[in-house]
This record gives sequence, structure tokens and C-alpha cells, in this order.
Amino acid sequence: MRDSFPVADRAAQRPDDTDAATRRAWDVAAAVPDPEVPVLTIEDLGVLRDVSADADGVRVTITPTYSGCPAMDAIRDDVVLALTSAGFDRVDVRLVLSPAWTTDWMTDAGKHKLREYGIAPPTGRAAVRGPIPVRLAVTCPRCGSPDTREIARFGSTACKALYECRACLEPFDHFKAH
Ligand SMILES: [Zn+2]
Repeated sequence: MRDSFPVADRAAQRPDDTDAATRRAWDVAAAVPDPEVPVLTIEDLGVLRDVSADADGVRVTITPTYSGCPAMDAIRDDVVLALTSAGFDRVDVRLVLSPAWTTDWMTDAGKHKLREYGIAPPTGRAAVRGPIPVRLAVTCPRCGSPDTREIARFGSTACKALYECRACLEPFDHFKAH
């Protein structure tokens, strides 16, 4: 099992050169939906970091979006259920906190689905470090207007901020980049 991830600035991808059992286990774990935003899978979110399967069972590594995210217990249970339903036994789900999850790990497909769901996806890249962070416009997921403002730092969950669109006057959640 890999102890560290060679690339931590993007979503983990299923390795093509691995054995059939690991590939199948990866696909099953990757399809588990996020309990908070069910249109997104944990792979879309970048929460799924690693899967390996062999005669000893399946080991799945996930990284929570926030260290106190209560959704993680639900995700852990869902991953175990999905894999045992698919015929795997001895499923071990490991939580890895370092490197910390960033919105950079969210896939482009995930950001697209988030927008269709009515949540403004993260803008910019959290990993980019410059002297002055550029505050990119958060566009309204409903009408596409960049004329929006933050009305609450925390939206429906700690991972999201509540925004309001000045063009269509609709409030919406924005998945914060961090
Ligand atoms: Zn709007």
C-alpha cells in the first residue's frame, strides 16, 4: 500500500496498471455519492484518495473535506456498504488528514455537476500562492451573473458560504476554495 500520494494538487485517479480486483473495488468506491450533495460522488469531490484490493480485503483511503465534517462517518459507512454489497469483504476505510483536502481535488466533472445542482463551484486554485490573493468573482449558478455578494460565511454546511445574486436576487451556496 502506498504511504503517500505522489500528487496532492488534483483528484486521485484510478491507476490503469493495477490488478482487476483493485480496479473493480475502485469503481465501486468511486461511485459512492456525497451525503450532502448527492449529485457528486466522493471521486468527484476528490475525497477518495486510494483503493487497493487483494486477498486480505479492500483498503480505502479517504480525506475529509473538513476535519470536523460529520459527513465523513456517513461516507465511511456508505463505502463499506457499497463494497460489501459488491461482494468484497473485510473492507477497511482509513481517514487520512494529511495532506489536507483542497477544492483543487474536485474534478472538472464534479464542478460542472455542482453548478447544475445550483451551487457555485470553487473558483481559482487554492494551491496557488501569490503575494496578494486575487478574489475571483463567484458567478451565480442560476443566471451566470458575476454580480454576486457573500451574505453569510457559512451556508447550509461549514464547507459552503451563502451568496446572493444581485442580478436575479436568488441566494445560493458557494463551495468555498480552501
Ligand atoms: Zn443570478
